[in-house]
Amino acid sequence: MPRPLVSIIIPVYNEQENLPELHRRLCDVLDPITRDAEFIMVDDGSRDDSVQVIELLRRRDSRIVLVEFSRNFGKESAMIAGYDQARGRASIVIDADLQTPPEIIPKMIKAWQNGAQIVDAVRTATIGQNPLRTWASSTFYWVMQKLAKTDIIPNSVDFRLLDAQVVDALRQCRERYRFNRGLVGWLGFRRQSVEFVAEDRAVGASRWGLMHLVGYALDAILSFSALPLRLAGLLGLAVSFMSFLYLAIVLIRSVCFSQPMAGYATLVGGIFLLGGMQLLTVWLLGEYVGRLYDEVKQRPLYIVRRVVSDASDGSEPPPEVQS
Ligand code: UDP
Ligand code: MG
Repeated sequence: MPRPLVSIIIPVYNEQENLPELHRRLCDVLDPITRDAEFIMVDDGSRDDSVQVIELLRRRDSRIVLVEFSRNFGKESAMIAGYDQARGRASIVIDADLQTPPEIIPKMIKAWQNGAQIVDAVRTATIGQNPLRTWASSTFYWVMQKLAKTDIIPNSVDFRLLDAQVVDALRQCRERYRFNRGLVGWLGFRRQSVEFVAEDRAVGASRWGLMHLVGYALDAILSFSALPLRLAGLLGLAVSFMSFLYLAIVLIRSVCFSQPMAGYATLVGGIFLLGGMQLLTVWLLGEYVGRLYDEVKQRPLYIVRRVVSDASDGSEPPPEVQS
């Protein structure tokens, strides 16, 4: 089969209301440029009727490819499944919830045709987003820039065009704790940005609660930097140095000035302080070891129940599991 020009990759988790509108807007935008496209809709174990909606859409538009997961594996897995499936000379990931406007896709394609191999969509503002969240996300990007030493473009989202060569490179990165934005920066290649104003979700709520976001940030930091481990070492050094000073003072006071020290409070304080710091650093170690454990198991990043495309039409057995 000839390669399509672009593969549009759409991670889908409970998006039944958004899909028809998304498909319509994508077609409005793409059809004037090319009919030579494929829409890879990766159903990430939706609990609503997203799969049926995709199948309905497929009857009208055979360019749609349905990849159905066996359960919910998370957006990062859905994206890598899309990249694994993509045949286009360029691939674009777009959220199903219409928060990122398909209308800037022509600009991205133009930038790609002018030689950029990665085209990031950068958010200038999110209409209706709470300022605290905006602040938290900019702080997060700042910390990541400092820690990761790779090019993470602030306020870039996963809405991004990748040249087929970049997609090939990305496919080789099979780590479990995926922080896609960082990974893409790590890959290198020629990069360009296109700005957009984010909209609020069309329908439904974002599934990214506070704890989820904190977990995501932690994963991102730990998967890109061993600096926290070094900080633990520095903490240990600082405490050792201070206890040494303290002991010296105690010794000098009792030997030279015969002043006895009241022991109880300092003893208890010291024990709690040290205990707390030890627990903290053990936890930190544990985070890395736990991730190592997960990584070493080498489980597949996702499991596909079935792929429905023109090439397979659902009659074939599902493709082999990707590792
Ligand atoms: N998504 C997914 N799996 C999940 C959660 C989300 O595939 O477990 C998809 C979702 O359908 C949407 C995109 O990822 O297309 C972004 O999700 P969401 O809007 O919840 O995230 P946010 O915009 O808040 O980052
Ligand atoms: Mg969203």
